[in-house]
Amino acid sequence: MTTREALFDDLSALLGKRGLLTDGGDMERYRVDWPGYRGAAPLAVARPSTTRQVADVVSYCHRHDIPLVPQGGHSGLVGGALPDADYPELVLSLERMTAIRHVDPINFTMSVDGGCVLQSIKDAAAAADCDFPLSLGAQGSCQIGGNVSTNAGGLNVLRYGMMRQLVLGLEVVLPDGRIYNGMKALHKNNTGYDLKQLFIGAEGTLGIVTGAVLKLFPRPQVSRTALLACPDIDAVLKLYALARRSCCDLLTAFELVPRTCLELAMEALPELRDPLETPSPVYVLMEAAASGPADLDAMIENLFERGFEAGALTDGVLASSETQARNLWHIREAMLEGQRNRGEHLRTDISIPISSLSAFHERASHEIQDLYPQATVIAYGHIGDGNLHFNILPPPGLEADERAALLHELEERLFGIVDDFDGSISAEHGIGRFKQSAFLETLSEPEYDIMRGLKHLLDPRCLMSPGRILPRPID
Ligand SMILES: Cc1cc2nc3c(=O)[nH]c(=O)nc-3n(C[C@H](O)[C@H](O)[C@H](O)COP(=O)(O)OP(=O)(O)OC[C@H]3O[C@@H](n4cnc5c(N)ncnc54)[C@H](O)[C@@H]3O)c2cc1C
Repeated sequence: MTTREALFDDLSALLGKRGLLTDGGDMERYRVDWPGYRGAAPLAVARPSTTRQVADVVSYCHRHDIPLVPQGGHSGLVGGALPDADYPELVLSLERMTAIRHVDPINFTMSVDGGCVLQSIKDAAAAADCDFPLSLGAQGSCQIGGNVSTNAGGLNVLRYGMMRQLVLGLEVVLPDGRIYNGMKALHKNNTGYDLKQLFIGAEGTLGIVTGAVLKLFPRPQVSRTALLACPDIDAVLKLYALARRSCCDLLTAFELVPRTCLELAMEALPELRDPLETPSPVYVLMEAAASGPADLDAMIENLFERGFEAGALTDGVLASSETQARNLWHIREAMLEGQRNRGEHLRTDISIPISSLSAFHERASHEIQDLYPQATVIAYGHIGDGNLHFNILPPPGLEADERAALLHELEERLFGIVDDFDGSISAEHGIGRFKQSAFLETLSEPEYDIMRGLKHLLDPRCLMSPGRILPRPID
């Protein structure tokens, strides 16, 4: 291991003055993430501005046995990007690598730097009359390298898929500092193993994503947003099946919003108004969009009719203007803020086969509520993808260690039920550090061996995001 002073001198020489932060105050913001979790003080923060500089820093760390962790926009929810306390790490932030390298509206592709903020990618696509459909609450801050590394999903997965389906090529700095250049803008390429897929969802444990070729789509010309009131989750699922058919494959979002979430949203954003006169136990926030002439109003009205007839729908509002549509989507954003305002809670992103969601929801809600009557269950999310944020707010007033113990107990209980339904403990946020022990319990021996083998192959010294996904040292 090199001394701290030598490390600072060598990295300064590689990155220049703006490229390295070593002062505690300057490094403060690289220790915290969106939910407010706080990591340890990093060794330093490297801020390279080119792929070559990333490769030089990683190669230096490889030669000197220095662990490092890549950071994007700090919106990850499982602690993966936070510096570790046990093994002081160098933070490598991609925040200066923000170039849109090339937009090709004929090939429907775009090449970008790994540090591009998602919103700027969406804006650049729109400027070329195209659409990059990944949409999530953190799009104003999360970076495409983070989106790739967490295989982000978001609101439009049911129509466009997750990042795995949206990436055509990648540029990755490997843990030994070599550059894997897979920046091909090909829609079809069947030559051997699909290496880019290894790095998608790897949460920085196999390399640093410095560039990506993204798939674009024709820009939607018309879209419609509706909020529908349903009597229960069974009805929501019935409505979902009707909506997939009534909307002719044009459905882009189908989100479950329980009444508790609407109330949390109104608490967080007092100017929000209850969109329907009579309260309902659950709502669906849905959107349909088309890039050409399509009578979306007629499709949605037809869905309303069929939904009422089937008893799946009791009330609803179809936004009549863009402002009204935006206001409905504000509910979705504000309810996240409302939960955050309630302090530390169990945050999950489980998935269950869609047809089993109602049975799962009923069993999990009852079991949790019976055992812990003072806890509040808030289950919302991308129900059209079988993905629920089944979150639990602990009762207020608990001491920190009491709350931590309760949250752990609740998580174990919930994940046990997820397992009974053959579900997944993470549909989109990933494993990071917070979900590691639960994840390891779900792995079969062959799965663990393959994952461990890949990590050994690419990062035998376990310097790249050590302790995320797999434990450190990997045995
Ligand atoms: C309000 C809100 C809403 C959200 N909604 C969704 C949602 O709908 N769907 C969803 O999937 N997620 C959602 N998330 C989670 C989060 O936004 C995503 O996981 C996002 O992809 C993380 O990107 P980031 O740039 O912030 O990454 P960070 O938080 O900085 O890092 C996340 C992980 O990726 C690694 N990493 C970051 N950049 C790189 C890189 N260039 N190369 C290699 N590894 C890297 C980090 O080491 C870490 O392990 C939401 C988060 C918030 C706060």
